[in-house]
Formats: sequence, C-alpha cells, structure tokens
Amino acid sequence: MNECEVLATCPFFNDRMAEKPATAGLFKNRYCLGDNTNCARYMVFKTLGRAAVPVDLYPNQEERARAILAGS
Ligand code: SF4
Repeated sequence: MNECEVLATCPFFNDRMAEKPATAGLFKNRYCLGDNTNCARYMVFKTLGRAAVPVDLYPNQEERARAILAGS
C-alpha cells in the first residue's frame, strides 16, 4: 500500500473535479492510497504526461484510459 506519487496535486484526490462521485472516498482508498496502477488518471499520466489527462477522467474509467493510450 503506497500513496500515489501525484496525490498532492491530483484534482480528483483534492476534490477539484466538477463532480464528486458518491464513491469518491472508496476510490481514494482503493487507488490513491492503495494501488494506483489501475487508476485511469494515473495510467494516462504515467504514459503520456500530466497534460494528457482529461479534466473529467475518473479513477475507475480504465477503459477510457486505455482508449486514450491507444490513441483514439
Ligand atoms: S486519482 Fe489516480 S492519479 Fe490521482 S492521486 Fe488517485 S491514484 Fe493518483
């Protein structure tokens, strides 16, 4: 269990996204404070960089992240 390396500046973790899902706390525990390797935001950040992460991408949107990484 490790804190995500971008936790301090992540809009999702710091509740700066337009909408806050009811499951936000659960996601924070699962991804941000647990295993970030399956976090959609982290996947895009790690491969394409911070600027490529959509402002409205949620941690559980893994399929959307894969599509972005695939270039679609
Ligand atoms: S939402 Fe993803 S990128 Fe942001 S702090 Fe949590 S695990 Fe890291």
